Order: sequence, then C-alpha cells, then structure tokens
Amino acid sequence: MDYEDFFAGRISDLKTEGRYRIFIDLERQAGSFPKAVHHLDNGEIRNITVWCSNDYMGMGQNSDTLAAMHQVIDKCGAGAGGTRNISGTNHYHVLLERELANLHDKEAALIFGSGWMANMTALSTLGALIPGCVIVSDAKNHNSMIEGIRHSRAEKKIFKHNDVEDLDRFLSHYDSDTPKLVAFESVYSMDGDIAPIKEICDVADKHNAMTFLDEVHAVGMYGKNGGGVAEREGLMDRITIIQGTLAKAFGVVGGYIAGSGAMCDFVRSYGSGFIFSSSMPPAVAAAATASIRYLKQHNEMRERHQERAATLKRRLTEAGIPVMPSVSHIVPVLVGDVVLCKQASDDLLMKHNIYVQPINYPTVERGTERLRFTPTPLHTDADMDHLLSSILEVWSRLGLKQAA
Ligand SMILES: *Cc1c(COP(=O)(O)O)cnc(C)c1O
Repeated sequence: MDYEDFFAGRISDLKTEGRYRIFIDLERQAGSFPKAVHHLDNGEIRNITVWCSNDYMGMGQNSDTLAAMHQVIDKCGAGAGGTRNISGTNHYHVLLERELANLHDKEAALIFGSGWMANMTALSTLGALIPGCVIVSDAKNHNSMIEGIRHSRAEKKIFKHNDVEDLDRFLSHYDSDTPKLVAFESVYSMDGDIAPIKEICDVADKHNAMTFLDEVHAVGMYGKNGGGVAEREGLMDRITIIQGTLAKAFGVVGGYIAGSGAMCDFVRSYGSGFIFSSSMPPAVAAAATASIRYLKQHNEMRERHQERAATLKRRLTEAGIPVMPSVSHIVPVLVGDVVLCKQASDDLLMKHNIYVQPINYPTVERGTERLRFTPTPLHTDADMDHLLSSILEVWSRLGLKQAA
C-alpha cells in the first residue's frame, strides 16, 4: 500500500463532500472576551468577535479563576507529576473532587483529563464490568458516550431522541433483575433542546435501571448553584451518575463524574482511562475549583446569560432569520445547505469580523446545516447590533432561507 496516497485520498474525499475541517487560528484576549485576534496563513492579523465559543460564561478570563491558576502554578509548578496512583494526586485534585461532589449533592466525584475521557471511561467500565449490563442510549448522544458504550461491548439499545415511550418499550424487554443503564444528556448542544429528565427517571425507576446524565452543556449555567438542569428541576438525587466538563461554562479544562461513593470508587479502581493517564495540572484543578465557586455565588451571571440568548433569538426572529426552536442558551440558525453554510460563515468572518463556525454532517443531519451562536453574558448590545446587520447583509447577498 502507498500510505501517503491513502491518507491524501481520504482527505480529498472529505473535501469533495464539503466536510473537510479548517481550524480558525485564534488568539484569545484575556480581559476582552469575546474579542479575539484571528491569524491568517499569510501572517496578517485581524480583530474579530467570537460568537460560537463554549466558554459560555466567559469564565476563561475570570479574575478569581486566573488568580487561582497563577497562585498554584507558583506554588506547585506546571504538571502533576504522575498518574493519580503514582505520585500524581495533588491536594488541589482532592479539593476539586470535593467541590464537585458538593455541587451535585453527591457523596463523591472523580475527575478526568477531559469530559470526553470521563464519558468514555465511566461508560466503558460500567458496561464492561457489570455482568449482563444493557445500556439504553439516546439517539442524539455525544460521540464520547457512543465510544464508551461501544468500547464496553455491553448490549446496546438506542431509543428515539427524548422519547420516553420508546425508552419504556426498550426497557420492558428485560426483566427487573437485568442490570440496565439509561444514558442521556440534559441540554443537547446542537439543537438546544432539553431532555424530559423527570419522565426518564420515572421510567428508569419503574424498570430498576441506573441513569447516566451528561450535563456538559448545563453545568455552571442552570440551577441556583450552577449544578445543571437536574439541579434546576430538583432531580439531582434521582440521577445515578452525573457527568460534566470543566472546559465549557467553567472555562478551564477537564471532566468528571459524580455519584455514590461506591460507584466513584469502582470507576477509580477499575477504569483504565482513569488509572493509566497522568492527572491534570494542579493549577488547572485550582482554577476549575475557583470557577465552580464563583458561578455558585453569581446567579446574576446565569440570568444575564439567559437574557442574552433570549434577546438574540427574538431579534433574529423579528428580522426574519430562521432561528431553530431552542429552549436553552444555544441559538442555532438554519441554513440547510453545506456549501452555503460554509460560505455564510466565511463571509461573516472575512467581511464582518464575526466568527461563527458552520455545523455540518456528521455533527448534525444533512439538510440541517446551521450556524450555532452562543451568546455569553459578555456579548454587549453593540456586539448584537453588529451581528444583526451583518447577518442580514449575508442572508440577502447569498439568498439564504428566511424564517417560515
Ligand atoms: C464537549 C462535550 C463532551 C466532552 O467534554 P470535553 O471536556 O470537551 O472533552 C461531552 N459531552 C458533550 C455532550 C459535549 O458536548
């Protein structure tokens, strides 16, 4: 085989399909988020406004977060120095796990290098080691859950997205003694819809199943302490395993699960992705802890965040731009064509200094290509005025779909 030819051929397939990913080279500016510097290949630099960051609350530049990070770098140095078992458990990891257990009102929490690793490791470990375990998974679950379930080699069933009756039907095939786990998300990040958590828990209880809830797009942003949608709805105690990230609303990096002491100890003791990977830098753990504490105490940030999202949805709708229905902070705008979606994003970036990434297959279904806006508490009215006039220009220049 000509290896180089093979690689080049598969890349050219992606380009033909319009699915080749081009990364925008950004330099974030602490202190002026959501502004950033955009580096072009020719060395030119431009000032832009980011409208698609998952640093949903701007915590990546929060002064408490940065102070904690600086302090602990100076105190403990750069890296953790090992896996958790071999010299890599730092006191700041212990404090972070306590903070997370407290956030979700659970006995324990366990941190990982990323949210992806948390899902992958927890689901693959539980699915592989609980004898005869069946995992019932929402059709729109994130790649990290799908990979974890696949890797577990447990029997897998996929229920229709957010469809409680379909879930009930699948669970009814097994007797009450068969171990079962229902895996789903609270806020789905591409559509901005929210799972019927209570109804899913009711069905899971009826069939004696565990629940695994990915709150990656909700922690820090929902609930009076930022514990997520399950906190907002008073349902945290009904979820067996809550999974989250430290990289989105908390603005740092890392992932975790929270649940019973025995469950966390089990994943800690048997999960390869936890055991054999070096732990996160202590300064990262300290920054995440500071960020969680800050968001616990600043409900007004959550109110402002929701207001910004509602205002953007309203203004786009009034302007005839097709905002897709979303009950969360996510503002998806339908383009419905892979080439035009990329063109709209390119024009916004190069002609209007607005960065919003096009979202294409396989992240979303073909024909539903979209621009996904994530307004933060730090996007001003002036930013929004500029966004609106720019979108209107691009929509009319490219002849894009209007709202129905
Ligand atoms: C981003 C994401 C993850 C992974 O979290 P990271 O911390 O970015 O690795 C997991 N689940 C969902 C739904 C996500 O969108």
